[in-house]
Amino acid sequence: LVLIPVRIDDVMKKAFEMFSQQLKVRGIHVQWELAEELPDISGDPDRLEQVFINLLINARDAIEERVQRDGRDIEKRITMRSSTRDGEVTVEVCDTGAGIPEKMRDKLFEPFFTTKDVGKGTGLGLSISYGIVKDCGGNIVARSNEEGGACFAIRFPALEVG
Ligand code: ADP
Ligand code: MG
Repeated sequence: LVLIPVRIDDVMKKAFEMFSQQLKVRGIHVQWELAEELPDISGDPDRLEQVFINLLINARDAIEERVQRDGRDIEKRITMRSSTRDGEVTVEVCDTGAGIPEKMRDKLFEPFFTTKDVGKGTGLGLSISYGIVKDCGGNIVARSNEEGGACFAIRFPALEVG
């Protein structure tokens, strides 16, 4: 693990670029809501990129699941958001997918917890992501998206400038 100053927006963009073709072929639109100015955080950029890829994979799967359930005309959208206040940087990945049942909320980050078919999910993505975020001094939580679907929010302490 290398902890260096990281502009987390750039990491989100890099992860998106890695994954954009996957979203495009499924007609999933990505909406960006980035803070104009964002302090750096302390983190390992390569591992944090993996966190966002994990979140994008899950968002894609959740949208696919919702299509199976509600039909092809649902809005297929992922929102990538960043903001800062009170010495913290928050980033969110929200989707319009199948959502998270309340009783599952506490289990999501446990290793090997998955609701996916054998061969489709290992149940490791979120537990590994949780560990990476912790190692970078942050925390990650899941909540329901007001628009339906799920939101994953990651909060880091902002690096002091100067
Ligand atoms: P996997 O994707 O291999 O199942 P993860 O650790 O990435 O493992 O996720 C664990 C479980 O959390 C998933 O199986 C799914 O039930 C739930 N989950 C994760 N992300 C989302 C999401 N964006 N929307 C709804 N459920 C989700
Ligand atoms: Mg996953």
